[in-house]
Amino acid sequence: MAQQAQRSLLNTLFLWGTLILALILVPLKLVLQGLRWSEVGMFLLMYTLIGLSVTIGYHRLFSHRAFRAAWPLRLAFLVFGAAAFENSALWWSSDHRQHHRFVDDPEGDPYAISKGFWYAHWVWVMEGAVRPLEAVEDLQKDPLVRWQHRYHFWIGAVVALIPVYVGWATGNVWGHAAIGLLLRIVATHHSTFLINSAAHRWGSQPYSDTNSSRDNAFLAPLTFGEGYHNFHHKWQWDYRNAAKWYQWDPGKWLISLFAWVGLAHGLRRVPETQIQRARLDMEAKRLAAVLASTSPTLTEDLRERLGLAKARMEEALGTFQSRREAWEALTAEWKAKGQARGAAWQDLRGQWKSERSRCQQELRAAWADWKAARLKVLAFDGAS
Ligand SMILES: [Zn+2]
Ligand SMILES: [Zn+2]
Repeated sequence: MAQQAQRSLLNTLFLWGTLILALILVPLKLVLQGLRWSEVGMFLLMYTLIGLSVTIGYHRLFSHRAFRAAWPLRLAFLVFGAAAFENSALWWSSDHRQHHRFVDDPEGDPYAISKGFWYAHWVWVMEGAVRPLEAVEDLQKDPLVRWQHRYHFWIGAVVALIPVYVGWATGNVWGHAAIGLLLRIVATHHSTFLINSAAHRWGSQPYSDTNSSRDNAFLAPLTFGEGYHNFHHKWQWDYRNAAKWYQWDPGKWLISLFAWVGLAHGLRRVPETQIQRARLDMEAKRLAAVLASTSPTLTEDLRERLGLAKARMEEALGTFQSRREAWEALTAEWKAKGQARGAAWQDLRGQWKSERSRCQQELRAAWADWKAARLKVLAFDGAS
């Protein structure tokens, strides 16, 4: 209990202290000195390096094992991630794995939104609960993770002070301390916290409504792609948080880049057909609720049309998935045998490519059919 009280006091002083100091000193500095480009540059550099280390390192790599990374990359994530002042990667991952396992459960989820917005945002940190490390044995085997766990505060302090060293070298210590250190700490904290609070409160649920997680495009730029939290809770082990190409997820793009240069491997991703199936199920569920409130005799045609369109979608998705799995099994078999990829291989590859394009075509047509049926139901609902 004494340990919890001590942690609670330290965390509260740190979180409120940095926020209050930033709220006083930053406007004061702006009035007295204005803002210099070098200060903005240092702020953005530190915010980006540290934020990416939390998103890609603490979250996707350590907490979820969504990919594997070479040691220099792990070291960089651990060193810069420490400067987020969000505890060690080991503690962070332990809490986060419990969050996914018991999401929304006030007993098991360390930052359950069911205990209120502010509780999930930062009160849970200030409570300073002393929880044992859970389900992180895999991470404890990594000597770099163990080292960071021991010294994270000091590593974080050395890194977080980089803007101050720059300020000292350029004769502008206080300007860099206010913007690159103080404001940066507050910005890093609250952008991370918003994923636990706002991304469990506001946004859409295109993939699942079995928990409170939401996709929220406004949060993605602040957190290097972590805003698509509904997708993330559905497939937490996927190295992406946003599966669509136009959704802002620099974390995903950088992981792909690391893989391309050989610093990362084993990137895990859910098949596209599973994503589409989840979307279809969610839309069907919502439409069923709309139809449930209408007279069955008036909407019989609509129900039938929707049922047929859904069946077509399911068939198209099932066929595509089984064809893909067959192709992947064949590739694995070919690889295991160590067969040379000559003309026979090119033949098989050609066959798969045309089969894939047929499946994609049918899937596009089935989606169009489904969307038309869906619009009819929505139009009926709007008119009635
Ligand atoms: Zn969550
Ligand atoms: Zn997660």
